[in-house]
Amino acid sequence: MNYEMVIGLEVHVQLKTQSKIFCSCSTTFGKPANENTCPVCLGMPGVLPVLNKEALQLAMKACLSTNCRITPMNRFARKNYFYPDLPKGYQISQFELPLGVGGYINIQTNGVKKKIGLTRIHMEEDAGKLIHGENLDSPDKSYVDFNRTGVPLVEIVSEPELRSGEEAREYLTQLKSILDYAEISDCNMEEGSLRCDANVSVRPEGQKEFGTRTETKNLNSFRFVQRAIEYEVDRQIKVLEQGDSIIQETRLYDSSKGVTFAMRSKEEAHDYRYFPEPDLVPIEISDKWIEETMDQLPELPEQKRERFIQSYKIPEYDAGVLTTSREIADYYEKSASLHPNPKLISNWIMGELLRELKNDGQKINASPIKPERLVSLLKLIEDGTLSAKMAKIVFEEMYRSSKSAIEIVTKKGLAQITDSSAIENLVDEVLQLNTGQVEQYRNGKEKVFGFLVGQIMKKSKGQADPTLVNKLLKDRIN
Ligand code: ADP
Ligand code: MG
Ligand code: ZN
Repeated sequence: MNYEMVIGLEVHVQLKTQSKIFCSCSTTFGKPANENTCPVCLGMPGVLPVLNKEALQLAMKACLSTNCRITPMNRFARKNYFYPDLPKGYQISQFELPLGVGGYINIQTNGVKKKIGLTRIHMEEDAGKLIHGENLDSPDKSYVDFNRTGVPLVEIVSEPELRSGEEAREYLTQLKSILDYAEISDCNMEEGSLRCDANVSVRPEGQKEFGTRTETKNLNSFRFVQRAIEYEVDRQIKVLEQGDSIIQETRLYDSSKGVTFAMRSKEEAHDYRYFPEPDLVPIEISDKWIEETMDQLPELPEQKRERFIQSYKIPEYDAGVLTTSREIADYYEKSASLHPNPKLISNWIMGELLRELKNDGQKINASPIKPERLVSLLKLIEDGTLSAKMAKIVFEEMYRSSKSAIEIVTKKGLAQITDSSAIENLVDEVLQLNTGQVEQYRNGKEKVFGFLVGQIMKKSKGQADPTLVNKLLKDRIN
């Protein structure tokens, strides 16, 4: 039997504010444990939360940049549960009146475009962090760090419309790109500012009803999200094929083993005993404020992609890669403004530059080669000073030494040989050394021509202009 997989993602995103959502404590990451705390975020009795306007503003941007409708009158709710990292015994979240509903994100996998619906986007406060044993005096004890309690989050919930691990990964990539462009979040997964839970179920192809889902947590990279989904789908199919049924539960992903395992069975939503938060007034958002926020949104990745295709006449694929982040897009636009060869620039950024940066784990802003220098290298290819092959060698050296292209070419004598008489000399030398092959060529074995070109290129240490070599060799041999 063939199965179809059904995936819905819940993404928690930390909003880029200076202070927490209901108090003035700092959100700075990496402070000594419990330094960023006060009675409000420690959940002391009798304290009153006050909503951070900037957090709301950023949450509105998250809604508007993902095509959600803003709920004009929305409010916070208490989600009741006990956990050591949740000092109040409840989390302030939103429930029946979330900030945004009914959005979507466009994705594209293997050339197929698809719209993925967003059920809702709601604001909530983060919980603290438990530290078990590690690096502490007593390895048998657990500790709790409340620096993160009250950090502002939005939860972005997708419709169950994703149909493969690859689609899920692409959805996350697009979502992250939007949040990054609109400066809503720094989306740093290592610091926990973007976290994803994957809901997965399978159903026999053609069946209308969804199967029972599991929810996998602890997915700290997009690659792991994809792998965990693929693992989970295989596991569920095996369970069903054995005639057993799927248990609705929360699972964890172990990235070193590449498996998911059961963590706890899933509480039903009503167990949280949600009720409207009595310490906070409902939030009323005027049309004017929505419009103003809309006007503040920058050009988003999709719009930029379209503009790149139109104005630089580059393929859709290139435009996609070049707009993955604002920084890459800016680097590209800067380069293209310095030198009007948008496709050549695109090739070098996508190929050489991004590859080197990826190997070093660096972002493009930290690139040792700035647009000005990249462009001056490309000019050397265009005016024939460097062959494409030599240019790659120069590029590597530029990347490591932060010298300019011209400096490297001059110092190493790497310039392409375009002087006909110099090449003619090489041609003659090679013809004299390979009389046998010349004979074969004249007797009709044309393949030998390529061999001779190779010999000449080798003699020139790869520096002879290949077009000229071909032409001069042909003249001589015929
Ligand atoms: P909960 O907090 O109980 O997990 P949410 O509404 O926050 O509920 O999130 C549910 C997520 O699960 C959504 O992303 C939704 O698309 C997805 N989902 C719901 N039903 C299924 C299903 N049968 N298979 C896969 N995903 C599902
Ligand atoms: Mg959930
Ligand atoms: Zn505080």
